[in-house]
Amino acid sequence: MASKCSKCNEPVIWAVVGNGKDAGKNRPFDVNPTDTGRYGLKETEDVDKYGKQVLSAKYYEDFVEGMAENDKLYSNHFVTCSEKGSYKKAAPAQKISFSGDGLFVTVQVGDDDYAGTIQKVVKDADASPF
Ligand SMILES: [Zn+2]
Repeated sequence: MASKCSKCNEPVIWAVVGNGKDAGKNRPFDVNPTDTGRYGLKETEDVDKYGKQVLSAKYYEDFVEGMAENDKLYSNHFVTCSEKGSYKKAAPAQKISFSGDGLFVTVQVGDDDYAGTIQKVVKDADASPF
């Protein structure tokens, strides 16, 4: 049932998130439950296109509440992955454009977009050590 993370090669369990900010998305979870986990995993009636049973994940804001409804809670592997730095490194600058005020940049990190203007650094000639 477990597959492997393409970044760190650790086994992961895929489940469809039912609520929270990742609702409706298929996410990898660590195979072993953790005390920092916030997701309860449950088997559903559905099977995927490979005939494997689909798991659903429920996000709990509150760990105690999650533990009351589930015996174990699991972590989103995107958060715990030892190679997660490479997710960020792989995120390219999507758009860079010039305006009178500076560089306008849009960057995607994970599922979030960040946009803003970067100002040119104006060097003070007198303060320059060169
Ligand atoms: Zn990983």
